[in-house]
Amino acid sequence: MLQVRDVTVRFAGLTALDAVSFTAAPGSLHAIIGPNGAGKSTCFNVLSGLTRPSCGTVTLGERELTRLAPHRIAALGVSRTFQNIVTTHGTVADNLMLGRHARSRAGFTASALRLPGAVREQRAHLARAREIAELTGLGEHFGSPVHLLSYGDRKRVELARALCLEPRVLLLDEPVAGMNAAERARTADVIGTLRAELGLTVLLVEHDMGLVMRLADEVTVLDFGRTIAHGTPDEVRRDPRVLRAYLGT
Ligand code: ADP
Ligand code: MG
Repeated sequence: MLQVRDVTVRFAGLTALDAVSFTAAPGSLHAIIGPNGAGKSTCFNVLSGLTRPSCGTVTLGERELTRLAPHRIAALGVSRTFQNIVTTHGTVADNLMLGRHARSRAGFTASALRLPGAVREQRAHLARAREIAELTGLGEHFGSPVHLLSYGDRKRVELARALCLEPRVLLLDEPVAGMNAAERARTADVIGTLRAELGLTVLLVEHDMGLVMRLADEVTVLDFGRTIAHGTPDEVRRDPRVLRAYLGT
């Protein structure tokens, strides 16, 4: 169970999150939606340790994550993607292996010296990276340079790399932004498969309401850093406060 309690984030003169609370049950998909500037990415930054909240707590099971360094949080099983593509270099395989390295037991020196244990571990990582590429619809591009892929495929490399940490909780920040309809549908299928096959808890920030309605078990709606609605996709869709926030009336 991932639990966010009363998290407040203040930047100079601006409250980006104002006592936000929600929980995500294991294996569930919890969407966080809201207009631009609502605080969605800030919420992910808190969950992944990039931003320290002014107050409030984040816990995963019994562990408190609040104020841990990003790599510690990642090691405890919380992995994320960013709103914008960060990957531009190397092949798909290179990028996924970078993701695997973060959880590698053999040190860099052992790998460089090609000690037998390190070589074995490297092979296992490569095999798992290939599986993850298959799972995310990138199997045929495993050896391809990332800059030659379509936009949709590059966006899914980000997702695949986050999966390489073998997370229990996956934070997806606008995973289909900028994609065309076919790429969106494909990515939605991939996210559905991940939940089914890996049993992941997924937190999804997304503007594509069709995708949110189709995939989410629960939705939290933020506006100006405050939770203005919470419920099933159907409940939230009909909530007048949500309509007002989106339509600005
Ligand atoms: P969303 O992802 O919902 O569009 P963000 O979480 O990115 O919104 O931003 C929420 C608010 O916090 C915005 O007003 C944004 O300008 C502000 N903000 C985000 N990051 C910072 C920062 N590092 N310093 C100052 N203000 C920030
Ligand atoms: Mg954002």
